[in-house]
Amino acid sequence: MSTLSPMTNSSNSMAERIAEIRNRIALACARAGRDPAEVTLLPVSKTFEVPAIREAIALGFTRFGENRMQEVAQKAPLLADCGVQWVVIGHLQTNKAKEVAKFAHELQSLDRLDLAEALERRLQQEGRAIDVLVQVKTSPEETKSGLEPTELFEFLRKLTSYQTLRVRGLMTMAVLSDDTQAVRACFSQLKQLQERARQEAIEGIALDRLSMGMSGDFEIAIEEGSTEIRVGSAIFGSRG
Ligand SMILES: *Cc1c(COP(=O)(O)O)cnc(C)c1O
Repeated sequence: MSTLSPMTNSSNSMAERIAEIRNRIALACARAGRDPAEVTLLPVSKTFEVPAIREAIALGFTRFGENRMQEVAQKAPLLADCGVQWVVIGHLQTNKAKEVAKFAHELQSLDRLDLAEALERRLQQEGRAIDVLVQVKTSPEETKSGLEPTELFEFLRKLTSYQTLRVRGLMTMAVLSDDTQAVRACFSQLKQLQERARQEAIEGIALDRLSMGMSGDFEIAIEEGSTEIRVGSAIFGSRG
């Protein structure tokens, strides 16, 4: 009865899990000669309940990643007292633009013009503007969404005409694979696209941010230039 529980992720407290992630961020930054202050940790709370989000809020987080608008619409009123900023990271159907305009602080999965169009209309109705990242498909997997890299520059130019969408950077999901070289190639492709897009110097578009890296691959993403990692299970536990 007196056996010590092993120090696995699930037996540690959330504060300990976050401290461990911060430590891994610092080590990855040291390997890459980067300042850890350049890398933001975005907790991804999808599928986790409000009490777990409150625990993370108590640890200092205000932005939370979610991938389904239905879930944001349920959670947002329950956390209205906390000043949470909801960051939408999942593939969005165009008919969800209205919910995004109501609840989202930021959208990281903008990948097509009809969605931009719908968001512009709904955001104007709400009298709001939001930050957006353009999601790029860097993985060969059919299931991954995002804009084709070859379409990026033209897409960015078109986005400059949408007043309610403040384009801040790029986002990607790497291939799900044990082959770290294949994962790294996805992240380095996004970094190269950022550099080339900056050379194009599209007016009104800064592209300072690169959202890449999740629980399983964030160290590689940081080594390749990520400015924001989206971490769910390593903070909140397994989604089962
Ligand atoms: C779920 C999700 C994450 C977080 O995944 P974990 O493996 O739990 O860290 C990050 N980005 C996107 C787009 C997601 O859908």
